[in-house]
Amino acid sequence: MMLVINAGSSSIKFAVCRDDLHMIAAGSVTEIGALGRVRVGPVDQQMHVADHHQALSLALAALAGMGIPADGISAAAHRVVHGGTALVAPCRITPQVIALIEACVPLAPLHNPVNLVAIRALQTLKPDLPQYASFDTAFHATNPEVATTYALPKAERNRGLRRYGFHGISYAGLVDRIASVSGMPLPRRLLALHLGNGASLCAILEGRSVATTMGYSPLDGLTMGTRAGCIDGNAVLLLATLHGIDGAGRILNRESGLLGLGGSNDMRALSQAETAEAQFARDHFGYWALRHAGSMIAAMGGIDALAFTGGIGENDADLRASLLQGLGWTGLVPDFQANAANATRLHETGSAVLAWIVPAEEELRIAQEALAVRACEQKRPAI
Ligand code: ADP
Repeated sequence: MMLVINAGSSSIKFAVCRDDLHMIAAGSVTEIGALGRVRVGPVDQQMHVADHHQALSLALAALAGMGIPADGISAAAHRVVHGGTALVAPCRITPQVIALIEACVPLAPLHNPVNLVAIRALQTLKPDLPQYASFDTAFHATNPEVATTYALPKAERNRGLRRYGFHGISYAGLVDRIASVSGMPLPRRLLALHLGNGASLCAILEGRSVATTMGYSPLDGLTMGTRAGCIDGNAVLLLATLHGIDGAGRILNRESGLLGLGGSNDMRALSQAETAEAQFARDHFGYWALRHAGSMIAAMGGIDALAFTGGIGENDADLRASLLQGLGWTGLVPDFQANAANATRLHETGSAVLAWIVPAEEELRIAQEALAVRACEQKRPAI
């Protein structure tokens, strides 16, 4: 059995699957550092969770309580947010890989350290356990240099200041599954919209990322739950002057986006709020998603299909309807009835552009990638 760990800044999502990728358990420990919540199977408990170390212990204890003891786990697969330019494919975690993940901590200070906590905790618990990593940045390694380069002086670019892009595990899984979900071959020019608490778009040409809206960090691009999305660098400088670097970082990453505009970071709460502020926040999200969609479509030289994924993309029919309507200029003819029913297929017969919902299954993708690496290891002759 494989344990899949998706550690975020204040949560750990986890899943256990068999080698045939059948998921036998999935759960989460959320609000780490505060009054946390442990959810898996029938367990739904609130308790103080001090840190990610404790969160992982609680997850393992909850799994053991469901009849899945740590002894029964034969491999672990982790989502690691930042792989930088060195880690661009899923791999077995070795001391060298740990050093490279560590080297990317300055690029993802909230995420890579907690990914390392989970990796090291499992190493301590089961030193012989094979562990694997999938990287959120890796899918965008195929972006051309013009797309990844900031027009900065060379000395600054040499510090690693460039666009990386994120949500890569979600996009790679979407590319893998869209044919089976839609019953059609992989579209040549596919616009993928990952709309969740974090939100981004990706231009996927022949299965490979050629452009994405997130950049050096996940802050860039769309209006998000608490992140501002694209903002002029000089406005950032003013925020830093007024509030200090940490204050500006907090405002841009934690207090902006839907929360800053509409008073809640939760799209469902905004759709139910019926206030002008809440509606404006939703309009802002939709408007900027469309503006960025235009940019992604230009990067692919047109569009054959689009796919929604993520909590908002899969569930918010009103918001999807405004995006489908706003993309009418591409030749897309939306089926609004199907859209209102959250159906898989969102376009009318004869539409020049096809539109689908492809549910995000990041844990499944992480497990799949680890199993693929393991299969290669087993094929390779021992030296
Ligand atoms: P994360 O990035 O944390 O994984 P998710 O993909 O789970 O986020 O998406 C969370 C977002 O999806 C929240 O804004 C939530 O309100 C929204 N969402 C989930 N279900 C619905 C729904 N039925 N209608 C509107 N929004 C929804």
